[in-house]
Amino acid sequence: MNEWRDLRCGEVTAERVGERLTLAGWAARRRDHGGLVFVDLRDHTGLIQLVINPERSPEAATVAHEVRNEFVLRARGEVVRRAPEAVNPNLPTGEVEVQVDELEIVSRSEPLPFQLDEENVDENTRLRYRYLDLRTDRMQRNLRLSATVVAAIRRFMDSQGFVDIWTPNLTKATPEGARDFLVPVRLQPGHFFALPQSPQLFKQILMVSGFDRYYQIAVCFRDEDLRADRQFEFRQLDLELAFPTRDDVFRTLEGAVTASFEALGRTPPSAPFRQIPFDEAMLRYGSDKPDLRFGLEIEDATEVTRGSEFGVFANAPVVRFLRVPREFSRAELQRLEDVAKEWGAKGLAYLVYAENREVRSPIAKFLSESELEALHGEPGTTLLFVADTKSVVERVLGALRSQLGDELDLIDRSRDEFAWIVDFPLFEWKEDEQRWTFSHHPFTGMLPGHEELIESDPGSAVSLAYDLVWNGWELGSGSIRIHRSDIQQRVLRALGLSDEEIQEKFGFLLEVMRMGPPPHGGFALGIERFVALLAGESNIREIVAFPKTASGSEPMTGAPTTIPESVLAELGIRTIAPN
Ligand code: ASP
Repeated sequence: MNEWRDLRCGEVTAERVGERLTLAGWAARRRDHGGLVFVDLRDHTGLIQLVINPERSPEAATVAHEVRNEFVLRARGEVVRRAPEAVNPNLPTGEVEVQVDELEIVSRSEPLPFQLDEENVDENTRLRYRYLDLRTDRMQRNLRLSATVVAAIRRFMDSQGFVDIWTPNLTKATPEGARDFLVPVRLQPGHFFALPQSPQLFKQILMVSGFDRYYQIAVCFRDEDLRADRQFEFRQLDLELAFPTRDDVFRTLEGAVTASFEALGRTPPSAPFRQIPFDEAMLRYGSDKPDLRFGLEIEDATEVTRGSEFGVFANAPVVRFLRVPREFSRAELQRLEDVAKEWGAKGLAYLVYAENREVRSPIAKFLSESELEALHGEPGTTLLFVADTKSVVERVLGALRSQLGDELDLIDRSRDEFAWIVDFPLFEWKEDEQRWTFSHHPFTGMLPGHEELIESDPGSAVSLAYDLVWNGWELGSGSIRIHRSDIQQRVLRALGLSDEEIQEKFGFLLEVMRMGPPPHGGFALGIERFVALLAGESNIREIVAFPKTASGSEPMTGAPTTIPESVLAELGIRTIAPN
């Protein structure tokens, strides 16, 4: 290759026996046997064993005694076969070793804060020394997998005629339901750009400009609490089509998913993916991102218990239950009730059908023969009931379903279950603020005819939004958009904006939508979530090179930091001490 190395470490296999090679990499391990010194030389392709023999090269042996873990070395020597008893069948390079003639320490390393093969290193330490953490096999694999996926997606989008267009990062707030990150503008003190929560409006505008098919691997910024599947900044496969049907959008995403699986040499999930209406998902799974790798579906008992003597059931708007294939103990039921309460339930009623056909339950005596009959409990099962408003019942049983699926090992982890969730409501009622809000974003279209409901019955308007779900993770959302200025204006009004606010915030969009907008729609797929699942990781931090911690900081650089008063003054900003 060049003067540093002829091959990468993992490429020195048995075909190279007899060759004299220069190799470079990190010292993964050094074993000093008094005379002979063995060094495992490592790069991202693997390990090759160097043997430094003082009889062969006294100079190299002197250098070898100084070598410590993670020193960078250059070695020159001859590839030889290992003695049969020294062959390591677990390494591609395990049949050979390099007898070193020249050894050079290219750079040194202080003792590491943790060893690269150490397990369960505390995450703060890993992030503080991310450059070392990234040398581990796991992180090398994850970031390379991520690159493979992104490259496959780009190739696919390109092959489908999508045009990659860059949209601004310094822009006006785009409402996706999070807080904005703001950037002060020196030339206009008191004015701020917002970092985009997504390129939503720009991509819609590109459709009006005649681009027909747009895509971008776009970086988005959202100021919200960080979680396993959320960072302040993340990437989306962002796309938009003019004159689309919903199926066009679905087929595009299914193609991108298939291309990604194939690029990793994995069998893609069978497409087209199934479609589940939002209402059905909430009823059966208590979630709009159901994990479909297991059953444990929620069942409804509202009708059956309507006339019940058990007042809690009779009076609750909705009564639903989970039929769990297990005879829970009192202690287990207590713990499940605590979980239910954490999710907002007032209590958790149960019927335990013991193997001996006994029914253990404080509520059984209130239920009539016909009620019990209708529930048809099998021995060895427990029915867990929540009686409350629809949204509480869905939330609590959805959470219990996920938890029990995991705890009782009901999830078939060999399966990949993709689904489209469709027919979301257009608006959601915000109880605390007593107003309507959007359930996707304010530019989402609605079923034909549902325009009439915007003012008269916002709660029953059904949108043209859809989500893509994989094994219980929401991978992304999209919709067919509103492309008429008057309807857009009515939706913004329904969200409580005055005409002045609409003009100020979205005047430009309404103007665009008055100048020949084609029907359009699109989607955004969260790249990090998708890649994390492909990599078998449960936290997206594991596939991001330099992520933020849960508290929103970046331990390696120490960001965020305070800024000198003089710099702030230039921006027209004064800070107030946090209380
Ligand atoms: N902008 C939306 C989002 O980030 C996606 C879309 O509607 O295309 O979720």
